[in-house]
Amino acid sequence: MTSSNAARDLPIAIVGGGFTGTLLAINLLRYGVKVALIERSSAQLAKGVAFGTRRPEHLLNVRASNMSAFPDDAGHFLRWMDFSDADEANRFVPRLTYGMYLREQLVTALAKAGPDARIVDGEACSIGFGDTAAEVRLADGDTVAARAVVLALGNFPPAPHPVLEGVPEPLYCPDPWNAAALEGLADLDHVMVVGSGLTAADVVLSLDSAGFAGKVTVLSRRGLKPLSHAESGPVVTPVLDPDLRGVALAREVRRRAAEIGWRGAVDALRPHTQNIWRRHSSTAQASFLRHLRPYWDIHRHRLAPSVARRLEDMEAAGRLRYVAGKLCDAHEEGGRVAVSYRPRGEDRIETLDVARVYNCAGPDGNLARVEAPILTHLLQQGRIRSDVHRLGVDADHLGRVRDADGKVQDRLLAAGPITKGEAWEIVAVPDIRRQVWGLARFLADEHWVGGEGL
Ligand SMILES: Cc1cc2nc3c(=O)[nH]c(=O)nc-3n(C[C@H](O)[C@H](O)[C@H](O)COP(=O)(O)OP(=O)(O)OC[C@H]3O[C@@H](n4cnc5c(N)ncnc54)[C@H](O)[C@@H]3O)c2cc1C
Repeated sequence: MTSSNAARDLPIAIVGGGFTGTLLAINLLRYGVKVALIERSSAQLAKGVAFGTRRPEHLLNVRASNMSAFPDDAGHFLRWMDFSDADEANRFVPRLTYGMYLREQLVTALAKAGPDARIVDGEACSIGFGDTAAEVRLADGDTVAARAVVLALGNFPPAPHPVLEGVPEPLYCPDPWNAAALEGLADLDHVMVVGSGLTAADVVLSLDSAGFAGKVTVLSRRGLKPLSHAESGPVVTPVLDPDLRGVALAREVRRRAAEIGWRGAVDALRPHTQNIWRRHSSTAQASFLRHLRPYWDIHRHRLAPSVARRLEDMEAAGRLRYVAGKLCDAHEEGGRVAVSYRPRGEDRIETLDVARVYNCAGPDGNLARVEAPILTHLLQQGRIRSDVHRLGVDADHLGRVRDADGKVQDRLLAAGPITKGEAWEIVAVPDIRRQVWGLARFLADEHWVGGEGL
């Protein structure tokens, strides 16, 4: 067993080297903490799913001015891009460019850290815990000893769709983030996309960019589609953390929207969203997820204006159609997919014959359903449990993961989208960069100094 002195000399192991894991590693190295960053896909190292895309048409959905990797240096990404004026700062640059930025930050930090930093290639499958240390075990049998482990596993692919599961690949694409899912598009004539969020927009854009001349039907429960950012940056009138809760808060946001526009009303809530979420009971949170979430999502997670225009052009040309309804059946028929759905509020069934179906239902957060050996192992060991809404792992505000009995653990932590149950608004770069900056300070024992009011 590792003694506590020896354990202090061990690295923090970070499982997942996407944006979250990479930025956590960089921040820890700044404090002189040793790091082992474990990533199963070398192509995705530092970039993760979002910024590991190879498609130039996939743009950031946040303006360049708000994409610095560091909360204490807001202009960092703008300088890296060599952007100097307001027009440039307003741009939505390709996500693959942002991936290059992240990779460069990681390489620079590694070069500086020398032996304190280690990149480990491989899939972490299980974690053993001793009294003072932990051991991460990889699929190839290797192990990494650590003084604590942080799960930065990112966004999981969409939940399997019960109606689509019988349709063979590649007629059915269950994971739209798999690079192969966006190949061979030019010859397709009619494609159905199930789900209408930002990933659906990615798929439609890739079809269009590949020279696809057919039609796309985007099916979702309510037929909503993401709204667009304004052409120029938000002018937000800051508001105090609102006291209101539940329906009264929703009513106040609507009132503000009528006064200053919906973008301003939603953006003004941004600094307070995590606190608002935490102040609500789990019943009220569940009610938000059931009734308001789809509307929140389209107002909050917006398209770059150029992307929105392209989709509108496709709609106007009759090549793109958003449909509200429920998928009833899908099966292979002569090398194609026969799909039927019930339009929202109607009894009749519509049928379509399409060349391919994409599942763009949004990331799954149900730990018991996600196919990931490390989650299966940790659940079986009672080391993790789902948060009450099944959005990810149950963790406290410091990122410490709760075990099956609800006890927080000092040596198993989590960061990024899998902590959505605790913070809700922890999906985009501006929120995650603050979370990992704080987590690094906590793990480095630096949170007691530096303007924190001791
Ligand atoms: C398609 C898409 C586009 C997005 N666009 C934007 C945007 O424009 N702007 C914005 O602010 N946010 C965007 N986001 C939000 C995104 O959640 C965050 O910006 C951020 O990229 C999340 O990073 P992550 O590291 O937590 O997750 P991920 O990027 O998913 O990275 C997790 C990494 O962990 C690795 N991993 C998982 N399990 C293991 C294991 N057991 N062992 C080893 N490695 C493992 C995976 O291979 C992966 O590389 C987007 C998200 C998606 C899905």
